[in-house]
Order: sequence, then C-alpha cells, then structure tokens
Amino acid sequence: MNESVEIRKKLLAMQAELQQRLQQTQSEERHEVEEGDDTTAQLWQVSEVRDGLNDEAIAELRDIGRALERLDSGDYGICTRCGETINPARLEALPHAEFCIACAE
Ligand SMILES: [Zn+2]
Repeated sequence: MNESVEIRKKLLAMQAELQQRLQQTQSEERHEVEEGDDTTAQLWQVSEVRDGLNDEAIAELRDIGRALERLDSGDYGICTRCGETINPARLEALPHAEFCIACAE
C-alpha cells in the first residue's frame, strides 16, 4: 500500500515534469513564429529536433498514464506481455516499465 503511494507520487512527478517541458517547447515555438525570422531552413531543423524530443516526451507521458492505470487496477509491476512480475530494481529505475527485462530485450 505505502509502496504504491510512493510509486504514484513518483509517476505523477514525472508526468508533471514532462508536461511542463512540452508546454515550454510549445510556447518557445510560438515565440519564434511570431518573430518571423527568415532563416526558415535553420528553424526547420531546430523544430525537427524538437519534434523528436516532443515525440519522446509524449510517448513517455503515455507510458506513465498507463502505469498509473495499472496501479489503479492492481496490475502494476506485472509484465503486460508475459504476465511475469517485473524486477523491482527495474521498476525503481523505470517506474513506468511495461515489460519485464526479458520481454523488453
Ligand atoms: Zn515479460
């Protein structure tokens, strides 16, 4: 019980941080567009890198959301692929891990 409260706290903190990071990059982008800089090619490159980072953050947010759902349903810490218990050390390092080490590889 206490343990799941801790995990939830950790997941929610990660979620908040990612959301903040996404909001930040989005407002930075708006700023750049407003300035109307004509170094379009350069901007294009920058925003492509950002899109990559955003995709990563969005995927992580999705995983965190799913981990929170599993925490609610009592399936947390169980590999969604093979149904084995996920190693606690792995969950410690990656609280939103969906697969056990064997399945992740
Ligand atoms: Zn597995």
